[in-house]
Amino acid sequence: MPTEFPDHSDALAKLVGEPSGPVELSPEAVNSAMIRHWVEAMGDRNPVYLDREAARAAGYRDVIAPQTMLQAWIMKGLRHTLDLEAARAAGTVASNDANSTMMALFDDEGRTSVVATNCDQSYVRPLYLGDRLLVRSSIEAISDPKQTGLGHGRFATSLMEFFAVSNEVAERGVSAEELVSQAELVGTMRFRILKFRPGTGATAVVAKPPRPRPAITEDNAFYFEGLRAGELRIQHCTDCGTLRHPPLPGCGSCTSLNWDYVLSAGKGEIYSMVVNHYPQVPAFDYPLPIGLIQLDEGTRIVANLEGDPESWAIGQRVTAEIRALDDELSLPFFHHDDMQED
Ligand code: ZN
Repeated sequence: MPTEFPDHSDALAKLVGEPSGPVELSPEAVNSAMIRHWVEAMGDRNPVYLDREAARAAGYRDVIAPQTMLQAWIMKGLRHTLDLEAARAAGTVASNDANSTMMALFDDEGRTSVVATNCDQSYVRPLYLGDRLLVRSSIEAISDPKQTGLGHGRFATSLMEFFAVSNEVAERGVSAEELVSQAELVGTMRFRILKFRPGTGATAVVAKPPRPRPAITEDNAFYFEGLRAGELRIQHCTDCGTLRHPPLPGCGSCTSLNWDYVLSAGKGEIYSMVVNHYPQVPAFDYPLPIGLIQLDEGTRIVANLEGDPESWAIGQRVTAEIRALDDELSLPFFHHDDMQED
């Protein structure tokens, strides 16, 4: 029976338009050191970010910051974020702002998973060296519950409005809330998330994909051609007679490059084995028993073991069955050797 979750539509509607938290002042003014690191990391060679003459020639009064750095100016670093989270968890910092309340209501509705879906920035004017940024965040919109591909969820859009004052004004010791009233809007950012119930998304029925193809080379083509012809071939040195597998261009015993192949009878025993559970590749069924088979001819081969994974053990006798998986690929699968059990 599905779990019943409460519906917090009314409480969520009241949060729309509310500030997400306090107005924040950027820790530093727009400065050339951060710009230099940014353009270096981005590989952006536009000279207007670092060269005053180039900026003026392009019509700006001074060098400008890359527009996409908008949010970077108000970020206080990972340490700050971690400390804040720890303080909230310890109850030494309030966590009753509108954003925290919204997230708690989503969680209570069973929407504990989150994914960011959109981030749209718009720019009112370029940022110049010495601009000090302020950000005012609010909850702009919360959607009705919707069935999405990821799950049953709600979208929430946060609006961040960025303002600038001169560094001089910012240093006067006025509160950030007061500063905003005399600041100039320089850009906005809308950040949208989806909070959804895990495990309620579309369960697409996907046909089992074909088994991965082997990489065919000049050296191993004979082996896979043989399987398509229903033969289990073993490479054979025509100079010293040594058998080898997997296929190689030269003989490991005498270094000869001359070879042909012999046919294996497909009989042998399990030299080693593993039952694979993870990671699961869609083309295979799990648990997946895989054997290293010591063929009676003397070489070893890695191949699938058929039947109950629990029934397999090292030393057991096996027989190969060559099976065509499709027009391109045939492979050997090993069964318990019934003759041995008699
Ligand atoms: Zn040889």
